[in-house]
Amino acid sequence: MNKLLALLVAIFASAAPATAAPARPKLVVAISVDQLSADLFEQYRPHFTGGLKRIAGGVAYGNGYQAHATTETCPGHATILTGAHPARSGIIANHWIDFAAPRADKQVYCAEDERLSAPGGGARISPVHLRVPTLGDRMKRADSRSRTVAVGGKDRSAVMMGGQAADQAWWWSNGRFVSNGASPAPVAERVNQAIAAAIARPRPPLVPPGFCGERDRAIPLAGGNNVGTFRFARAAGDAAAFGQSPEVDAATLTMAAALVQQLQLGRGPAPDLLAVGLAASDFIGHRYGSGGVEMCLQLMSLDSDLGGFLRLLDGMGLDYLVVLTADHGGRDIPERRRLQGAADATRLDPALTRERIGDEVARRLGLAGPIFVGNWYLAPTVPASRRAEALALAGQLLGAHPQVHKVYDAAQVAAQPIPRTPPESWSVLDRLRASYVPGRSPDLFVVHQPNVTPIANPTPTAVATHGSVWDHDRRVPILFWWPGAIPEQRSASAMTVDIMPTLAGLLGLSVPPAEVDGRCLDIIPGAESNCD
Ligand code: ZN
Repeated sequence: MNKLLALLVAIFASAAPATAAPARPKLVVAISVDQLSADLFEQYRPHFTGGLKRIAGGVAYGNGYQAHATTETCPGHATILTGAHPARSGIIANHWIDFAAPRADKQVYCAEDERLSAPGGGARISPVHLRVPTLGDRMKRADSRSRTVAVGGKDRSAVMMGGQAADQAWWWSNGRFVSNGASPAPVAERVNQAIAAAIARPRPPLVPPGFCGERDRAIPLAGGNNVGTFRFARAAGDAAAFGQSPEVDAATLTMAAALVQQLQLGRGPAPDLLAVGLAASDFIGHRYGSGGVEMCLQLMSLDSDLGGFLRLLDGMGLDYLVVLTADHGGRDIPERRRLQGAADATRLDPALTRERIGDEVARRLGLAGPIFVGNWYLAPTVPASRRAEALALAGQLLGAHPQVHKVYDAAQVAAQPIPRTPPESWSVLDRLRASYVPGRSPDLFVVHQPNVTPIANPTPTAVATHGSVWDHDRRVPILFWWPGAIPEQRSASAMTVDIMPTLAGLLGLSVPPAEVDGRCLDIIPGAESNCD
């Protein structure tokens, strides 16, 4: 266990009996592990001995789905506690283009209020673009004494799970946690000081357990970089490296536990909500891929640190329930996947970038570029009379390439009804529709073949990614656990949009089905139900 967490365990630990029934927990703890695909979870599941083993030992859906097409962090986190697909939540991607935005840069970040700038410049972090209430918003509406606290390794995870009415939202920013400014708990400053002290000490390399050994192999990448063997050694004072390592998850859990203790969450007259976004798996997946010793070390650290976190909650004697899932899945680098037998795994052909396709459209139609802005938005400078022609030609050029599965335009996606069937049966067009918002979504949807990693040239910070319509990016674990839970593996599929109605049912909150895309999952064993 990480030293920060160990310190807190020592401070707070005391023997307290666990409660056996999940009905009406006093504290709901929603944890998102960024980029934890169902594949990765299953691959490592036999090796977990800590918190992930405990949480997987409740009602476990191994076949969960972030059902929509644009499997990115912001839309994924927005599904977890709202019960809404991106089409309803409004959070279609991490960034989108708004040509009416009141500034020169028309790219909007999902978790900002672009009408305002933050003190000192930069984006003003805000849930203003989230169009639906979160569980915490609904809890507070039912009883104003309910409190919501969100802590994230990324601002967007804290904001999208915390919602509009979060009492406190904290996120990692340049070596410390910063908040939404709403009367922060004094303990937060002490945790930040402990984190600063941890950063100031150098970090020796982690020692991989034996089973990580088979993954501990250097994989050379184009450009001279190689991945597969990094052990997270860190120089004293390197806050950036701290923030991209297992240490930042330990820091996030430490801050979360400290806030539970300071604010006495789970001890008030109404139930409380703690949302925790753990970002390290995603940073590590992007930087090193998911198949090397780096992810092995990360998941083992996370398992241990989550174990410490749960022991802290146990020690406080709280009646709590945990749900753990991910904002999206992901997949390893094609270079290593080829060595493992995926002969067709490949990187995106640079000929398919929007600049190259746009240039070709401009040349053939005699138009001035750029033709596309952002992720396939037609530039406003393309004359109205030529827009249909430009879109059709781009679709034709893209569609003729063997790396492209299919290209759709906005009208085709908009005409599709929102899918209501189980997520494993959804067509690609269904998935796109669940991600589509008129006036916010792009003009063209380019779906690459499943074997394509959409990073043409790996860089030191991005070698692998997610974001596609395919199941390796859609499938995530959905795990419900509470002290005393009886292990139950469920083979049926579930969606992350089912989490909010399920938790609302447990808390006795009524959620009209017309307000959500998910359904309540009955997670109480026997004849009782949380869904009546
Ligand atoms: Zn993510």
